[in-house]
Amino acid sequence: MKITRKTFDEVMFPCYNPMDMVIKKAHGAYVYDNRGNKYTDLTSGIAVNLLGHTPKGVVEVIKRASANLIHVSNIFCNEYTLTLASKLVKKTGYEKVFFVNSGAESNETALKLARRVAFDLYGEEKNEIISFNNSFHGRTFFSVTVGGQESYSDGFGPKPAAITHLPYNDTKTFEETISDKTCAVILEPIQGEGGIITADNDFLIKVRELCDKYHAALIFDEVQTGVARSGSLYAYEQTPVKPDILTSAKGLASGLPIGAVLTYDKFASHFVPGTHGSTFGGNPLACAVGAYVIDKVSDKAFLRKVNRTHDYIVEKVSKLNEKYHVFKEVRGKGLLLGLVLDGKYAGKSSELQKLCFKHKLLTLTAHSDVLRLAPALNIRAKVVDEAMELLEKAVKDLIAEN
Ligand SMILES: *Cc1c(COP(=O)(O)O)cnc(C)c1O
Repeated sequence: MKITRKTFDEVMFPCYNPMDMVIKKAHGAYVYDNRGNKYTDLTSGIAVNLLGHTPKGVVEVIKRASANLIHVSNIFCNEYTLTLASKLVKKTGYEKVFFVNSGAESNETALKLARRVAFDLYGEEKNEIISFNNSFHGRTFFSVTVGGQESYSDGFGPKPAAITHLPYNDTKTFEETISDKTCAVILEPIQGEGGIITADNDFLIKVRELCDKYHAALIFDEVQTGVARSGSLYAYEQTPVKPDILTSAKGLASGLPIGAVLTYDKFASHFVPGTHGSTFGGNPLACAVGAYVIDKVSDKAFLRKVNRTHDYIVEKVSKLNEKYHVFKEVRGKGLLLGLVLDGKYAGKSSELQKLCFKHKLLTLTAHSDVLRLAPALNIRAKVVDEAMELLEKAVKDLIAEN
């Protein structure tokens, strides 16, 4: 069968508009298409392939585990799932884990849990959820409605109710809004899709304080920032607060679908047999890889390297920018980076992304102003150098076109 980019238009929902290539394979930081082209990848499957593409260790774990067990469902338990849960509990200080298959589902679970806890302890009236403008929490109807972009949730009929969106990092509106009726506050410690915007410490301290005062669960969506992406195992470790409920997904199994909700006994105990569930959640194969990934990326030397690579990329981009003046700043932590377009280039992140693609560099956008980079956490300096040469070519084109 001859497969081309046109096949996508013929047989797939037009929900995406992928670049003009069909990927055949990928190794480390490089992606290869079916016409023999090689691309340097700074996307990692949207912050997923933490250890690069098809890393040897992960392939070995998949081979070994899949020869033993692929799936059994949650009516039985298995060693792989319990191993990953034990590691997550040990490394984070949380007490209980619920596994799902994606970021959206992990937030769906966290939000349902917060509503249930409030319902059990305080009654039906305590059901309001506070979320923030431009946040992204996934695409199930509940999680997308909680997310801060109405255009994603409009047009599907009646929305889940009692959800309020506030400006991010705005302590005043938050203080004015939170009340006894609030059951949950959900936020990304660094807004990813929203433009790589980090929560201010003062804001987080106030949010934590008022969540305690009003008995609202504080949920951190660490789907993108988690699993060492931000330079610590979870991003909250770099803040003065710790959430009651934490959601993780994306990189947790280095490319296999997985999601996890972490919390304390006093919350988890409100879910009993029958309250919530998932057929694939805690899939042994994904959990086997997850256990391998968690061991690798929580290593102190590994995390130091992530932060050194952050500094190296920021330095390289700054040098490039001294020459071309297209970026206003580089935002983000660890290897979740936003190159913010300045002046007349603002709003042109898609154009720059396409120009990068033309030069065989794969990048992401986050909002129309930000070129987002989320390379593999183990990317080598030599590959960064190559990528920066390609970025320079794309930037030159951007200037020529505008
Ligand atoms: C990607 C993302 C999600 C959604 O994850 P899916 O696996 O696509 O459902 C939720 N929250 C954040 C912060 C994300 O970056």
